[in-house]
Amino acid sequence: MTLSQEQRAIIEGAIRDIPDFPKPGVIFKDITTILNNAEAYRTLQEHIRDRYQSYNLDYVAGIDARGFIFGAALARDLGVGFVPIRKKGKLPYTTVSEKYVLEYGLDEVEIHIDAFEAKENPRVLLIDDLIATGGTANAAASLISKVGATCVESCFIMGLTFLDGIQKLEEKSPVYSVIEVN
Ligand code: AMP
Repeated sequence: MTLSQEQRAIIEGAIRDIPDFPKPGVIFKDITTILNNAEAYRTLQEHIRDRYQSYNLDYVAGIDARGFIFGAALARDLGVGFVPIRKKGKLPYTTVSEKYVLEYGLDEVEIHIDAFEAKENPRVLLIDDLIATGGTANAAASLISKVGATCVESCFIMGLTFLDGIQKLEEKSPVYSVIEVN
């Protein structure tokens, strides 16, 4: 399922660039301007719903915190469960964790050890707002396999194609970026 030119224009037009945030040299891609634009948010969610309807997913796993917004809405639209992959120390039950290097710092993500237990051979879609260096998504994809599930695809609202994050992640599973940022 590809994005129509009209859908692309609506979504792309709703992304706001913030130069030098959170540090000089970074152009921060602000998605709050998609969320507060009803047409853009709906267009985006309908597109990913249409794309993933035929994937036979058991779960959508979203990365803390912006991946929750798109992932939870998608899971609900697809009628599957949602699993949060959270920053260290936020999940209350037994977790599995993975450290990674971020575009601006060091971090660690965690998942509940039994997150996908209700399904046999669970098929999971990983989702986040943006892939840059791929550190976060790679760690998240590792967590999904560590707890016994298959990451069938990783979906990002934006993919920064001038970094090698997408290529690195593609060694693990297919990657889909709704909007490619060159
Ligand atoms: P990375 O691990 O380098 O792929 O970074 C991805 C994570 O950092 C995502 O969760 C994004 O929300 C955030 N991020 C990294 N770079 C940017 C950027 N230029 N604009 C907005 N968010 C970013």
